[in-house]
Amino acid sequence: MLRKFEADLHIHTCLSPCCESKMSPRRIVEQAKLKGLDMIGICDHNSAENVVCAKKVGKKEGLAVIGGIEVTSQEEVHILAFFDEDEDLFELADLIYENLPGINDERVFGEQIVVNEVDDVLGFNKRLLIGATVLPLQQIVERIHSLGGLVIASHVDRESFSIIGQLGFIPDGLELDGLEVSPRLSLEKAQLEFGQALGLPLVTFSDAHTLEDVGKSFTSFLIGEANTKEIRKALFGQDGRRVMI
Ligand SMILES: [Zn+2]
Ligand SMILES: [Zn+2]
Repeated sequence: MLRKFEADLHIHTCLSPCCESKMSPRRIVEQAKLKGLDMIGICDHNSAENVVCAKKVGKKEGLAVIGGIEVTSQEEVHILAFFDEDEDLFELADLIYENLPGINDERVFGEQIVVNEVDDVLGFNKRLLIGATVLPLQQIVERIHSLGGLVIASHVDRESFSIIGQLGFIPDGLELDGLEVSPRLSLEKAQLEFGQALGLPLVTFSDAHTLEDVGKSFTSFLIGEANTKEIRKALFGQDGRRVMI
């Protein structure tokens, strides 16, 4: 049975230095339920250390949580990666850590807080998560796919840290599963501006860094279950699955 899932798959937690420190997985899940979302994705910058906690809270509260990460490539392009299996997600996270230089300066960029399901602070990540990896875009996309993940280019309508903003085009042979547009653009408008030209499925998520922004924009998927395989089918319009606009 297919049903509609209202999904905001691009939400940061207090692990991202640029994020509100009260953005714990518990509060995010609570807020997402208040906003009536059916599915959320957790995508911190270059790290996934709050994902397991978010999934636990989601399970307890009856909200589907997809584990993800927002990778910064060598070219300073942001890419969203989503996985069903934590093992695959953490394999990507390891590769990112091995290729992410620098130490975070909390006074300049903010704290990077790892928490548990009841908001206890478990520790502070010391890496420069806001920085860029030394991994080329092509290699990141290929690695995510080889691990079975879903690849969506972040906020393509923005000037900074987007594939269009940084490169001005989408390189040939780069196998993206979709493009995300930011909340300032409706999917209908984005379809007109980018859809035809780029020939890739479009979605919109909030990229929330504050609790208030959770669900600010979301995409409705007609799918059978909340997982990345179903979302991929919806993006490519397979087996009756689709993005509802
Ligand atoms: Zn981003
Ligand atoms: Zn983001």
